[in-house]
Amino acid sequence: MTVMPGSRSDGTTPTRTERGRARSVFNRLLEQYPESRTALDYENAWQLLVVTVLSAQTTDENVNKVAPALFQRYSSTAELADARPEDVEKIVFSTGFYRQKTRSIIKLAQDLEDLYDGEVPADIDRLVKLRGVGRKTASVVLAEVWDVPAIAVDTHVKRVAGRLGLTEETDPERIEKDLKALYPTDTWSALSMRFIQFGRDVCDARRPECGSCELFKFCEWPERFEAAGKSTL
Ligand code: SF4
Repeated sequence: MTVMPGSRSDGTTPTRTERGRARSVFNRLLEQYPESRTALDYENAWQLLVVTVLSAQTTDENVNKVAPALFQRYSSTAELADARPEDVEKIVFSTGFYRQKTRSIIKLAQDLEDLYDGEVPADIDRLVKLRGVGRKTASVVLAEVWDVPAIAVDTHVKRVAGRLGLTEETDPERIEKDLKALYPTDTWSALSMRFIQFGRDVCDARRPECGSCELFKFCEWPERFEAAGKSTL
């Protein structure tokens, strides 16, 4: 069932025109990316939590290279919760920030054991109680594993939504609320995955390909004309 959500973070409600424009943006992205899901490899919910934490500041490809060894060595949250940090560090070293990431995934596994008997909850408020799990990671898991409508706001979603004039906010939670107000719930999960893909492929932070961008006519980024000139050179 499609439920139209409520107000934006500033308390206003999107107009029909704003919703229509937002829908057009989404339809273009659906055409561009008919299939979209995370590129991270995982076999179950707790593995997705772990690889999402490892994916910070690196590529999904890098994470996919280390994940098989990690999950072969630690095949359950209980095993990872008891792991020696120095052993985990060796495995995740190539993903960068390996000490911090090791600490995070061990604590995450300990919390899963202590709070939820090793089961990943399908509820955002319970997910964010896990150390190292913010709304973004929780939303990825909800959408990917449990099919619960969720919008994960990462750096790509933040940039793309801002440039397209879908939000004026900079705080991820406020951006999430603005997007949820603009779009029906049944599009939320598909939307954030496509924004992420579009942000990686086309609307790059430093070198966006505005000259060939399918969404140029919807874009409100002031530098788009100059960037279009550069990207078509
Ligand atoms: S025109 Fe440029 S800045 Fe605007 S959405 Fe497209 S790539 Fe991004």
